Amino acid sequence: MIALTASGQPKLMIDDGPYISIIEKGYKVRWIKQNKLKTKKYKGDLPTEYHNLNFPLHIRDDIKKEEPSIYTDVSKIAAISDIHGQYDVMIKLFSENGIINEDLEWSFGDGHLVITGDIFDRGDQVTEILWFVYALEAQALKAGGKLHFLLGNHELMVLDGDDRYIHKKYRYTMALMNQLYRELFDPHTVLGEWLRSKHISIKINDIVFVHGGFSNQVLKYGISLDSMNQVFREDLIDQSSDAISQDSVLADLYFEKGPLWYRGYATETFSADDADEVLAALHCDHVVVGHTSMKSIVSIFNDKIIFIDSSIKFGKRGEVLFWEKGAFSRGDIFGNKQDLISSNGTK
Ligand code: ZN
Repeated sequence: MIALTASGQPKLMIDDGPYISIIEKGYKVRWIKQNKLKTKKYKGDLPTEYHNLNFPLHIRDDIKKEEPSIYTDVSKIAAISDIHGQYDVMIKLFSENGIINEDLEWSFGDGHLVITGDIFDRGDQVTEILWFVYALEAQALKAGGKLHFLLGNHELMVLDGDDRYIHKKYRYTMALMNQLYRELFDPHTVLGEWLRSKHISIKINDIVFVHGGFSNQVLKYGISLDSMNQVFREDLIDQSSDAISQDSVLADLYFEKGPLWYRGYATETFSADDADEVLAALHCDHVVVGHTSMKSIVSIFNDKIIFIDSSIKFGKRGEVLFWEKGAFSRGDIFGNKQDLISSNGTK
């Protein structure tokens, strides 16, 4: 909503938050209602009048630092990527495709939902999505399912202080809170602690999920997914890029050849043999990536590589990838399921 200031200048009217810091005796919550900063201290569950979200928020005590990186015998999988602040599109995709019910609660049973990174940046409903995913993850666990939110390059950028791509709304939030954007997600905040527990890559059944992809430069090190996730948590997030640059392995993981930035699978020179090499190195049959925007979910070389960044960032539409009984499909914004589009290869 655009309001006018006394001087007649257009001004953004914002609601945002909550941003919740962990303090000695409970929590400090801050949120913005119509451009006014509100602050409260509390213990236990967050009262609904302390935030702008349209779903209840329970602060969780089940956040584990080290979840497994490999899952087997999973009955069904859904995956989505690059939501980029588009809360409404995400909710429509999830509800039309049976991942949540009309009360916005998990309805995907014992299935696994993978978000392959880039919730942050571009759009103006990032905070809402983070809390929604935080809450949905707990509901999934209760139902015997699982939600995996893997970090993308935009999560890494925000945590490391690069705020070039944030929506202008968040500059108002920063000004009202008198803090940098990264400080709103520091390790002493509920979301900051949660984000720092996240993996960058997992394997479910015979499918590896990662935001950008694994380049040869990275695969040659033969690092297991478990070690890769640990290195990101311990040696890359919250570290200075100068220090990272001085270690060639860390630099290969962190910068453009690294798994959160790599775009090599989407280039014309990437061949069927290259795909087979990637699958062999990762001991899997399929790799699912986001990061490179497509009109819809696209696969190459008989679904060996599947691109699932379906351009949700434009705020209009998008798709969810499904896997069940060995077969992939894509669910659109109306909940219609269709075969994957094969952009080349032998399908
Ligand atoms: Zn990305």
